[in-house]
Amino acid sequence: MPGNIKDHNVYILGAGFSKDAGAPLIHDFLDRARGFFDDPDSELDLHERSQFEEVFRFKRELARAREKFRIDLDNIEELFGLVEMSQRLGSAPPATRDATVYLIAKTLQLAIKDTGNRPQVRIGLATGYASQASFINYVRRGPSGGDVFDTDVYTHFAVLLSGKYDDQSKLASRSNAVITFNYDLILDDALARVGIKPGYELTDAVFDEPSVERTVPLLKLHGSTNWAICEKCNQIHILGQKATTDPEMFRSRQCAKCQKPGLRLLLVPPSWDKSEYSEIMRPVWRKAVEALKTATRICVIGYSMPESDAFFKFLLALGLAENDRLYKLIVVDWVPGGTPPGQENTIEARWREMLEGVFVGRRFEFVPRGFAEFIRSSIQYLLHRGEQIT
Ligand SMILES: [Zn+2]
Repeated sequence: MPGNIKDHNVYILGAGFSKDAGAPLIHDFLDRARGFFDDPDSELDLHERSQFEEVFRFKRELARAREKFRIDLDNIEELFGLVEMSQRLGSAPPATRDATVYLIAKTLQLAIKDTGNRPQVRIGLATGYASQASFINYVRRGPSGGDVFDTDVYTHFAVLLSGKYDDQSKLASRSNAVITFNYDLILDDALARVGIKPGYELTDAVFDEPSVERTVPLLKLHGSTNWAICEKCNQIHILGQKATTDPEMFRSRQCAKCQKPGLRLLLVPPSWDKSEYSEIMRPVWRKAVEALKTATRICVIGYSMPESDAFFKFLLALGLAENDRLYKLIVVDWVPGGTPPGQENTIEARWREMLEGVFVGRRFEFVPRGFAEFIRSSIQYLLHRGEQIT
């Protein structure tokens, strides 16, 4: 990172970030997948149905172990971790792992609603700013005479990340980066809508789409539903459209490097060891540590820091160990009905326990209202940004 950056926000996103767009949470993921499978009118083709069926079969087989061992098979992350391990140890064929990866990507595609159904936000813009703002086509004059920007919460977040709400003379000393655990393309698509390219930091990837100049680092630690990898030569491809929207085309697609067929989606299981992916994902993970080292504010949205993912806990510890200028850590989550006074909910408690006492007292803030409410109200105050918003 250039030395002149003095104000560096890092966002860490988990499943709770995507909830407002209709994405399933970890525990209802398989129910949603089953719902699409059982619906004769859903757009699953025959081959896709057989992949879903393969995952349900694997789950039924594992269920027999439950007589002896307590394991939560409705938790998609646990199931994905198990199928990955079985495949590597040779007790399940690669086809079962690939089917699980595909089920995850397809369920996300079907569950995530189009932008019209998302929580909306109305932003008032500083006088005169709209006339030179590059997202001018979205802006209209409000009833009170000022310029307002009506949009969904994700587009608003993308504009915020792009720095377009900021005082333009201060941009050189500011930066934003996003670290995400989500496979979905909600933020990737929102950035594209405002003319920004997600900076994936996959050094040798082949892109379907021509690149644009402005990027915001979007570090997808667990892969993405638009990333595919060649099984023969490990070449990574960034797909221009979701593989799951045209499954037939994706299945027949050839590798851009070795010309052989057999691309599979690149999703990394959240649990267990990630060694098989270390070669591929190292540049992304390294960039994430760098971002954490230099952050002045970290804002965690909808990420519960599951016990199973010790990997990220260590990554965070490594990053923070060398960070001497972090002055705010904000954790945003959704606590239904709010937390009773004097009590802590478990996510807040987990973070407080992990962080050092003095740091918690001075720098830590927990926001229990969820992403949509957070971005509508308190984000500016907490991040000291967005001077063009009134
Ligand atoms: Zn290849």
